[in-house]
Amino acid sequence: MAIQDQPKRPTPRQIGNLVLAAAGVFLLINLVAPGIFGSPIPQVPYSLFIHQVESQAIDQVSIGQNQIRYRLKASGDHPAQILATTPIFDLDLPKLLEANGIEFAAAPPPRNGWFTNLLSWVVPPLIFVGIWRFLANRGPGGGQGVLSINQNKARVYVPGETTKITFADVAGVDEAKAELVEIVDFLKSPDRYTQLGARIPRGVLLVGPPGTGKTLLAKAVAGEAGVSFFSISGSEFVELFVGVGSARVRDLFQQAKKEAPCIVFIDELDAIGKSRSSGGFYGGNDEREQTLNQLLTEMDGFSASGATVIVLAATNRPEILDPALLRPGRFDRQVLVDRPDLAGRERILQIHAQKVKLGADVNLHEIAARTPGFAGADLANLVNEAALLAARNSRVAVAQADLNEAIERVVAGLEKKSRVLGEKEKKIVAYHEVGHALVGYQMGGSNRIQKISIVPRGMAALGYTLQAPTEDRFLLDEQELRGQIATLLGGRSAEEIVFGSITTGAANDLQRATDLAERMVTSYGMSKVLGPLAYDRGSRSQFLEDQVPNPRRLVSDQTSMAIDQEVKEIVEMAHQQALSILKANRDLLETISNQLLTTEVVEGESLEKLLAQAVKA
Ligand code: ADP
Ligand code: MG
Ligand code: ZN
Repeated sequence: MAIQDQPKRPTPRQIGNLVLAAAGVFLLINLVAPGIFGSPIPQVPYSLFIHQVESQAIDQVSIGQNQIRYRLKASGDHPAQILATTPIFDLDLPKLLEANGIEFAAAPPPRNGWFTNLLSWVVPPLIFVGIWRFLANRGPGGGQGVLSINQNKARVYVPGETTKITFADVAGVDEAKAELVEIVDFLKSPDRYTQLGARIPRGVLLVGPPGTGKTLLAKAVAGEAGVSFFSISGSEFVELFVGVGSARVRDLFQQAKKEAPCIVFIDELDAIGKSRSSGGFYGGNDEREQTLNQLLTEMDGFSASGATVIVLAATNRPEILDPALLRPGRFDRQVLVDRPDLAGRERILQIHAQKVKLGADVNLHEIAARTPGFAGADLANLVNEAALLAARNSRVAVAQADLNEAIERVVAGLEKKSRVLGEKEKKIVAYHEVGHALVGYQMGGSNRIQKISIVPRGMAALGYTLQAPTEDRFLLDEQELRGQIATLLGGRSAEEIVFGSITTGAANDLQRATDLAERMVTSYGMSKVLGPLAYDRGSRSQFLEDQVPNPRRLVSDQTSMAIDQEVKEIVEMAHQQALSILKANRDLLETISNQLLTTEVVEGESLEKLLAQAVKA
């Protein structure tokens, strides 16, 4: 027999709180946006106001207790406008206004009656109490951190509870792990080191592309050592008011020192640690700089205090960090967390595959081989996509086919079956892709052509040729580089031969081919004319190369011309090679393209068989 619960009636106290809170919210809205209930002056954020001050778009400012009103100058298409913003306790404002030649005055005292005056004294505390009680009643911790902007947002992970993550959960980054094992040891038995007079490292910077497991590693260090883990993200500081960021840093470290030994993890360190010389939105003396200074002070301070707090930080842009951060006693250790190699990818896949049900035909090694360049997060995503696909296909376990399809999803975005190419376009794309494939096949090298497709995917690619290395390669010889350039030009060359004209579809291929050729000449010293000299400036890290287009050292005009000439020759030679391969295999180009036009995808054994018919040029 079921016993029915007496429905819970709210206590009078709870009703009282609710009423107070409702009144508070109403009045707060009124304060924040008086336009709704009264004055129609548009409100803008304080940051925008400052920006307008700095760009001298303002000519008059009236500073009141609760509101700053100001006049935006007329410009071009819009007339002068009165705007308002909510003031922030900002002692620098008068200086800033003066510096920008803006007329300003204190607002006249409000001409309100005694009643409004009384209200303005009585109501704010009521609002405060009401909201506070309301939030506090929502459960433990409900009211925390909402009212005091100063309170830091660092999340505390209690040892053994939240951080069950250990090194076993991280794979493919063995060197980073090896370096961090030492840190774990410091945290576990600091005495062993201090007895010998060794200085325990204070800051370790984890450097690497997104998704390679930096956050995961930091948590694993805390988990292995069984210490608390405080984490905060640099980007959280960015939009804060002046002085709040540094106060938060101070609080965070205070809290951390109490819990020592422990780990403080600062994600996206570059958001606060940008080089001061690079200047920011507010020019020299801004919030970010204060936060950065506070961080430096804290790191210097606790070395003296002797508490074992180790600061781990993560960034994917170490080159923009302020040099002061990298000095001894601060982040003087850098640990590279790079993308995993073949074996690493297989182990990462195994870790994430534990969470899903795998079919008998699944071969993770094969999947790892097909995913060079994937970071840990991409592989985690891949496994999840595969599980979703298996569910959609009403399978009981994830099959190899699901994983294969998931790769393509992760690589190129979701299939856009709905996007239909016109007949003519489809034909061009087909010949173009087969051009890549045939030239790639003939040029040999370590890449194998796995698949040609003219099913459009994602936003950019109309078709694609999937060429996967049979092994991970770190060194390529000149012949292979020339082969890659020719392969990139294969698409355009096919269009030339078949249609006698070229389309815009080849632009990206040309870009990449030219980049490769330029690197051969300027970085790898593969030029006969220019010799084994490096003409580029060399970037500080490998993955930067992907982002910054090869900055050249200051070279003479003559050398610069010689470089251009050499690059042109390399590309032109590759182009001729591609053309002759395709001309020698004109019929095969036709056959495969026609096959591709009917089936949209050619892959695996049937592709092997077709390509094997190719003859040497
Ligand atoms: P980062 O901080 O470098 O951007 P994260 O640590 O946030 O990367 O990684 C996001 C997720 O991707 C992790 O929670 C984990 O599931 C997965 N992942 C990333 N790298 C690895 C790795 N090396 N081993 C296992 N899983 C990983
Ligand atoms: Mg992260
Ligand atoms: Zn192409």
